[in-house]
Amino acid sequence: MRKPYIFTPGPTEVRENVRLARAIEVTNPDIDESFYDFYKDTCEKISKIIHTNNDVYILSGEGILGLEAACASLTEPKDRVLIIDNGIFGEGFGDFVKIYGGVPVYFSSDRTKEICVEELREFLQKDNQFKYATVVHCDTPSGVLNDISKICPLLKEYGIITVVDSVAAMVGETLKVDEWKVDIALGGSQKAFSAPPGLTILSISEDAFKVMDNRKTPIVGFYCNLTIWREYYTKKWFPYTMPISDIMGLNIAVDNILDEGVERVIERHRKIAYATRKSLEEYGLNLYIKQGYSNTVTVVEPPEQIEVRKIIGHLLEKYNVLLPGSFGYLNNKVIRIGHMGENAHIEKIVYILNVLDLALKDLGYISKHSLVQLFNNYYN
Ligand SMILES: *Cc1c(COP(=O)(O)O)cnc(C)c1O
Repeated sequence: MRKPYIFTPGPTEVRENVRLARAIEVTNPDIDESFYDFYKDTCEKISKIIHTNNDVYILSGEGILGLEAACASLTEPKDRVLIIDNGIFGEGFGDFVKIYGGVPVYFSSDRTKEICVEELREFLQKDNQFKYATVVHCDTPSGVLNDISKICPLLKEYGIITVVDSVAAMVGETLKVDEWKVDIALGGSQKAFSAPPGLTILSISEDAFKVMDNRKTPIVGFYCNLTIWREYYTKKWFPYTMPISDIMGLNIAVDNILDEGVERVIERHRKIAYATRKSLEEYGLNLYIKQGYSNTVTVVEPPEQIEVRKIIGHLLEKYNVLLPGSFGYLNNKVIRIGHMGENAHIEKIVYILNVLDLALKDLGYISKHSLVQLFNNYYN
């Protein structure tokens, strides 16, 4: 099988030094105490990227594990939980809450725009009896970015702790966990970290641990119980054998980010995303989002008369490029360009925009523009 060039909003391309790190001979991560330091060191480096003094953990399991573990650890039967919903992942949090016996209350809004903080404030003035709230930073199927810097402090005014799914934003967008009062921040290895899939990354505040400690009923399950991680370092005990090779890869991916500089990585995403959006619009296509764009993924509607699945199939067949459509209510309606992590480099985005331009023209789209030329005009 010839590996296609992947330009999906996770998994992303993985740099060679990360791939090689996963091939190094390893110790026994349960018994060898030096691994506990290595794990802790990796977590502490991640805490610099997300600006927090809270505990950071790496769990064995793809990003969804973090979403479920947060809900499992916080939810008790009949708890009311506020689900801030302007997308598929946003709404989906409600299902995890239900699994653990909670009662989701949805604050749903226009899916083409970021959450309006003023509307949320009005909502909370009438109803604010919630155990916690969930919100998605970048809801990947649509590419909408929510303003966590305002949403989480607002909820804290009402004593509501927050679970933020930043899986598709972390590293590519600024995330200031402490300043923004995020209680549980969730990330995944295969998005802008640009490590292979398989690891959940999360930070947990003291307020969130307090809620877990004050439960009247025990947390259901073991793998999703976040309290079991709390004393791993002092007790030199992990709840299960850590996937050491995956973590060695992630450690190098984190070094790559810190070596470049957290701010510069974010700026690189911003520049690429801005020129991508502008060039697609000038080329004649419509962006799905009207307000609140994430710099990690751009979601664009196909030209009229050309079906999404046709474009995607043609890109793969003729150009060996894997661009995704979307799912749920966006199935076959939009194309997504995942310019996150290692994919957010000019040589890569220019390549993708070039083949997208060629593919659309192969399929009969008429434009006097060159997508790459337009991109260049906006990139600086
Ligand atoms: C990727 C992603 C996850 C993890 O889920 P997948 O199984 O990889 O889809 C969770 N939340 C968001 C917003 C994501 O983009």
